[in-house]
Amino acid sequence: MAAITMRALTKVFPGGVRALDALDLAVADGEFFALLGPSGCGKTTLLRTVAGLESATSGTVRIGDRDVTRLPPGRRDVGMVFQDYALFPHMTVTDNIAYPMRVKKVPREQRHAAAADVAAALGLDGLLARRPGELSGGQQQRVALARAMAARPRVFLLDEPLSNLDARLRLEARTFLRKLQGELGVTTVFVTHDQAEALAMADRIAVMEAGRIRQIGTPSEVFCRPANLFVASFIGSTPMNLLDARVRGERVVAAGATLPLPDEARGRVTDEEPVVYGVRPEYLDYSGTPVDGAFCGQVAVVENLGVASLVTLDVAGTLVHVVVGEGHEPRPGGRGWAVPRPGRVLLYRDGELVNERT
Ligand code: ATP
Repeated sequence: MAAITMRALTKVFPGGVRALDALDLAVADGEFFALLGPSGCGKTTLLRTVAGLESATSGTVRIGDRDVTRLPPGRRDVGMVFQDYALFPHMTVTDNIAYPMRVKKVPREQRHAAAADVAAALGLDGLLARRPGELSGGQQQRVALARAMAARPRVFLLDEPLSNLDARLRLEARTFLRKLQGELGVTTVFVTHDQAEALAMADRIAVMEAGRIRQIGTPSEVFCRPANLFVASFIGSTPMNLLDARVRGERVVAAGATLPLPDEARGRVTDEEPVVYGVRPEYLDYSGTPVDGAFCGQVAVVENLGVASLVTLDVAGTLVHVVVGEGHEPRPGGRGWAVPRPGRVLLYRDGELVNERT
């Protein structure tokens, strides 16, 4: 097994697109690491550059104690699974799984035995003689994983491997993949644009924007304490409330509400300073009756989320979103109050988090 270390990694494509911009990243040995970010931010390019399918313009990639920057893909000891699985349609499951070993000139019997072992571990025993066209999406994904595993790489690189699966199969595959990775302990870098997937599966996440990393952290760090406004607005299935605000002594005024200043912000902001007040809809407690230290407004929209509702309050022209649990029945046109939970409020100045926990 091995750590992966990238230093000042840069990839400029012909035509001038800077897909990776002096990027530094260290993935620990045995870690399950997710790359998350909007379309075009460079996730796939990063993975392909680690795999050796793209050459770095400058900078270095190390796998374990080896500098692999100039090595061809076959000599980097990585297993890669692509979004479309890239299985060979004319080959059986066994031959697909054994293919990387064939390239490495492993004798036929040995590679078929190894392929059968891996296939058994992934529950593919009964399917060895089939061709990819005769398999479901989930089975094809397992064959692609088995092929990547069979060569016993030191590193797994997975590029949106679950994106072709339907919602239910995807959930199953998530659990399966995470369990398998845990058992094998293989350092894994996983690209996804599905943040729920990254939050649910990864040990740590890097959030990328335009070829750079904007934050690296555990799922809860990235979700609860986004380091900047880019990550704050990118992460979260219901977007974070980000309100223009102003510091007033020990308080902060946002959307007309006077609210406590977060503890960690004391001494880091000055009176009358403009800031952005951030609070997730999940971290606002709803009340149908007046409360102090709350956003107060008219209920504009109520959306059913299943077990909860997403309520949009019109607070003097500023929209504030609140996730409201059972026991409340907000009605459009009525008044509602939303109290920020202490410890869950984030203040941003010039786009960066002020109340960082050190
Ligand atoms: P997505 O989530 O849409 O797959 P991504 O984050 O994986 O996006 P990349 O595919 O890495 O993004 O692309 C990063 C940037 O590099 C984009 O602007 C893309 O258009 C550009 N790019 C990627 N491959 C090439 C190429 N072969 N030649 C020129 N530009 C490229």
